[in-house]
Order: sequence, then C-alpha cells, then structure tokens
Amino acid sequence: MTPIKTQVRPLAAADDRPRFRSRRIARFTESVIREMTRLALASGAVNLAQGFPDFPAPAFLKEAAREAISADFNQYAITWGARPFREAIAAGYARFYGLDLDPEREITVCCGATEGMIASLLATVDPGDEIVVFEPFYENYAPDAYLAGATRRLVSLHPPDWTFDPGELRRAFSPRTKAIVINTPNNPTGKVFSREELTLIGELCQEFDVLAITDEIYEHIVYDGAAHIPMITLPGMRRRSILVNSMSKTYSVTGWRVGWVIAAPDLTDSIRKVHDFLTVGAAAPLQQAGIAALSQPDAYYENLAREYAGRRDLLVHELTAAGFRCFPPNGAYYVMTDISGFGFENDFQFVRSLIDDAGVAAVPGSSFFDDPAKGSQMVRFCFCKKYETLREAAGRLQNVGSAPARRK
Ligand code: GLN
Repeated sequence: MTPIKTQVRPLAAADDRPRFRSRRIARFTESVIREMTRLALASGAVNLAQGFPDFPAPAFLKEAAREAISADFNQYAITWGARPFREAIAAGYARFYGLDLDPEREITVCCGATEGMIASLLATVDPGDEIVVFEPFYENYAPDAYLAGATRRLVSLHPPDWTFDPGELRRAFSPRTKAIVINTPNNPTGKVFSREELTLIGELCQEFDVLAITDEIYEHIVYDGAAHIPMITLPGMRRRSILVNSMSKTYSVTGWRVGWVIAAPDLTDSIRKVHDFLTVGAAAPLQQAGIAALSQPDAYYENLAREYAGRRDLLVHELTAAGFRCFPPNGAYYVMTDISGFGFENDFQFVRSLIDDAGVAAVPGSSFFDDPAKGSQMVRFCFCKKYETLREAAGRLQNVGSAPARRK
C-alpha cells in the first residue's frame, strides 16, 4: 500500500524544491481525504472516508438537469451565475433566514464551495495577513491559506463537545487578522456553533475589523433540535460576512460542483473578479437544475435531516460496539472517534490496519490538525452512505485491530 502522506510540510522542506515547483504549493501535499478514496477503491474497502453519498441523487433533480441540457442550456451562463438560479438562492435565504439578498450584487455562483472559499480568500486577504481557523479543521483550509499567502492562527475546539476557550480566541485576533474561517455545522467534529458562540466571534470581528468567512455547506444537516445560524444574520455582520455554500451536500450531488458565495456588494465585486478568471462559471445546465433544487418545500429539508439522523445513530452504535469512543455529531455527516482503546501508535497505522485487515476506509484524524500528534488517536468516519453500505461496514468493523502484529 502506498504510504499515507502527511499534509503539511515544514517550511525548510518547502524551500528545498525543484525549479518548477512554486513556493506557494511546496508546503502541502495532496488531500488525505481524497487519497483515502483511492485506497478504498484499490483495496475494495468500504469507503467511509470521503464525504459523498453512495445513493442516487433525487430523481426530480436529475430530471431537471436532463431537461436543461435538452433545452440547450449548454453555453456559458453569466460568469457570476444564471440570474434565475441566483434568484432561487435569494428566495431560499429569505425563506429560511429572513435574509434580504440582492441577487444582482450579492450572490456569486461558483464551482462548489471549494472554489467559493479559495476565491473569497484570494479576493480579500493579502500575503502576510493572518486568518483565524478553528482546529480540527476541514483540510482544505490549510492549502487555501497557503495559496492566499495568509498565516493561520489556530484556535482549539475541545472534545467531547468541541467548545473553544474565549480567551484563546481573543488572543488569536490581532491587527494583522483579516478574516476568521468558520465551518458550521462543522466538518470533522459535527459541532453546530451556538448563537452565543457566533455572537462572541462576531463581536471580535467588529472590534478588530475582521471578516467572517463561513462555510455553511451542511446547513440543513442538523440533529436533535440544533439550529443552524448563518453568521451574516447576526447584528453588525451583514457587511462583514462572506457565506460559502453549495448544492453538494443538501442535494446529494457532490460531483456537480455548483456552489455560491453570498456577500455585500463591495465584497462580491472582489470575489467575482477572482471567480471569473479562475473558472469563468459553474456548469450552466446544472445551475438550471439548481432552480428546482432551491425551490423544494420545507419537507425536503426536514426529510434530509431525519434520514441522516438515522444513519448517524446506526454508525455511532456500531462504532461504539466495535470499541471506538464516539463524539456524536449535532450536525454534518461525520463521526469523530477516539481510537485510543485499540492501542495503535497513531492514526495512520490504525487506518492502514482498518483498510487492510477490516476492509473499511476512514480518514486519519491528524489530517484535521497542524500538529499530527493532536489527531494521532482520532479517526473520522462518514455516514452519508446507503444503509446497506453502513451495515456492511459495521460487520467488517468487528475485525478492527484483529492483526496484533500491527500494534505497537
Ligand atoms: N467534504 C468532504 C469530506 O470532508 C469531501 C471533501 C472533498 O473531497 N472535496 O470528506
């Protein structure tokens, strides 16, 4: 099996690089999450690593995409997104959050939340600026910061409830801080930031003149009465928030690559410039289908959250039975687990054994931390899978740690 690489390299290694490898890419390797998918495919392991559904996308949505292609929506849409799609997005935010958005000046359709995040950072952050990021973090945010030339200041989320220390957060802000990145509901922890927490963060943003860039891609996937609150709706944050979102998770179409960024007109102007030259635009027929998606009744979203709650309960139950300590999520579709009960030296060794001996792929916890030691006894599983996939994985999990030679 190919060695699993760590993501962040020391600066010294970054300077010792081939002539045709830019400084800006030298500090990171490929995505560990996506590498796990390749390893799962190569070895026939059940893939509970990369977060994408293995069940079909909704029939109405596939039909809408087919119809759009037949109706010849096959050329570029306007670079910042087809107007009817932007209007549908605005209507969705009015319905769910009472937000009054101008689709002409405050919404940019882009190629997934991944582009939305990097375009937002490139548009607003200069080399040498600092951005605050909660740790553990979704692994894209580290390369995003390197590509933008920004330095990250990390603030710890502490298990089991993934709370943060307000004093530590305040100390992370300085005159050099340009933005804070917040992912709620959170990948990988499943934390849903509370109104009190978001208010505290928003007050710091206003005190230090900082932007809040929020990744809200799991907004509709919340459990046990938890409520998702967009930072942009909080007092004083309407003009200093950049909201990044996508169709991927809400409509189970991670491969469509259709996302959007919401921000006040001056911020949107900057983001559109980057977006235009990075990608021109997201797939035109899929934006048309997006109109049908955003127009779904409330029942669609209630059903989505209910469906995932059932899958969460199943996976948490099975992982616990297999010897994992679970941190049950309040949102998103991942379970972070503590693997210290298995006696492995680190998360990479554990995941190797999990793939090779049990036939299940997951993501090593250190992928979500700068210092691998902090995640060395954690592993992330996703449950956005068919029940039969989850049950197959559950059966295989009974073999976890069954090859003692691999233990330390
Ligand atoms: N967000 C998903 C995850 O964390 C997929 C990441 C990706 O490959 N874009 O697994």
